Amino acid sequence: MFPPRSGKTMGTFQIRGGPMAIFGYILIILGGLLTLLGFSSFFASFFYGYFPSYFWLVFIGPLVTNFGRRVVKTAQTRESRGGLRKSIEEEAREAEEAARVKQERAYKRIEMVRCHECDHENPSGSSKCSNCNASFYGKKRCPLCYKLNDQDKKFCGNCGHNFDLDI
Ligand SMILES: [Zn+2]
Ligand SMILES: [Zn+2]
Repeated sequence: MFPPRSGKTMGTFQIRGGPMAIFGYILIILGGLLTLLGFSSFFASFFYGYFPSYFWLVFIGPLVTNFGRRVVKTAQTRESRGGLRKSIEEEAREAEEAARVKQERAYKRIEMVRCHECDHENPSGSSKCSNCNASFYGKKRCPLCYKLNDQDKKFCGNCGHNFDLDI
């Protein structure tokens, strides 16, 4: 039995620009060969005295090579543009994720109260602190810093927020 071929040994050969670039390189080589053939036909005609019937390839060869070069360039430009688009999409996704996390955190903050005694964060609606056991009865929460204050307090003892301004 042969050992199973892993994906690693196969298809590691990659050229920037993909199959289109490979086609371009083939055109470049073909153009070079055609040019060479045209020149050898031209010089051979001197030595052997026959008509240089393939001399015209001297004009066709460079055209093919140039075309091949353009194909390679186009393929590579396309690939790098594709990569750029990908990174922009990735950036947008990351920004979206960051915004989502931020919003989630904001919700979490709204959902919690800060103990008036020990500053511990408790879930909103708790009747006492899970850390120091202080009772939350008769306390009101500051809408800015989430700290609990006595019901009759006009200003937040933590951040100075004016409760009279709340609707
Ligand atoms: Zn506490
Ligand atoms: Zn406050």
